[in-house]
Amino acid sequence: MSEHEKSSNVVWHAATVTRERREQQNGHRGGLFWFTGLSGAGKSTLAHSVEEMLHDNGYRTYVLDGDNVRHGLCADLAFSDEDRKENIRRIGHMSMLYVEAGIVVLTAFISPFRVDRENVRKIAGTDFHEIYCKCSLEVCEERDVKGLYKRARAGEIPDFTGISSPYEEPEFAELTVDTQSQLEACTSNVFDYVVKSTRR
Ligand code: ADP
Repeated sequence: MSEHEKSSNVVWHAATVTRERREQQNGHRGGLFWFTGLSGAGKSTLAHSVEEMLHDNGYRTYVLDGDNVRHGLCADLAFSDEDRKENIRRIGHMSMLYVEAGIVVLTAFISPFRVDRENVRKIAGTDFHEIYCKCSLEVCEERDVKGLYKRARAGEIPDFTGISSPYEEPEFAELTVDTQSQLEACTSNVFDYVVKSTRR
């Protein structure tokens, strides 16, 4: 039992509608496509753009987005190293429930620490695909989509990734996408990868 498991009398109830049957019906396998990168690197934009393309092609998909999750499931967590770790742990487990449902899950979380992403890889096994949205801090800061870099530079946001908190680049990402290039090219690049990885 892990440090997080406090209930020992809980038994996983096996479904009769299995993952295999769901995937057969869907015509593709489920999978967890984990987009990581700096704030403003393009994780959300790319994840949603890939989802559009997958949806148009008949795939069952869902995007889990950093800000949305932090409004609810993880509203009790802040941005300390410990809280970031717990945030990613919860998302990893939640994502796997979707994958069990046969869905292609695309997640858009900075997830700056290698060890946290590797923990999700442990949870998800071969269903896990790390997609590194590679974009320089300079470009992210120039984009400053939400005005957060400006505030972080002014010292208004503690523990801001890239400024006052580190971002650890993936060492063995399944796919690295140059998100400083055209969105269309990035989208079809990831789309092709997802199609290939979820073939039955
Ligand atoms: P993140 O989710 O990583 O914080 P966002 O998706 O919110 O980043 O913002 C990325 C910004 O960069 C958007 O304004 C988007 O239009 C722009 N952008 C430019 N080129 C790309 C690209 N190739 N991929 C993704 N986003 C891009």
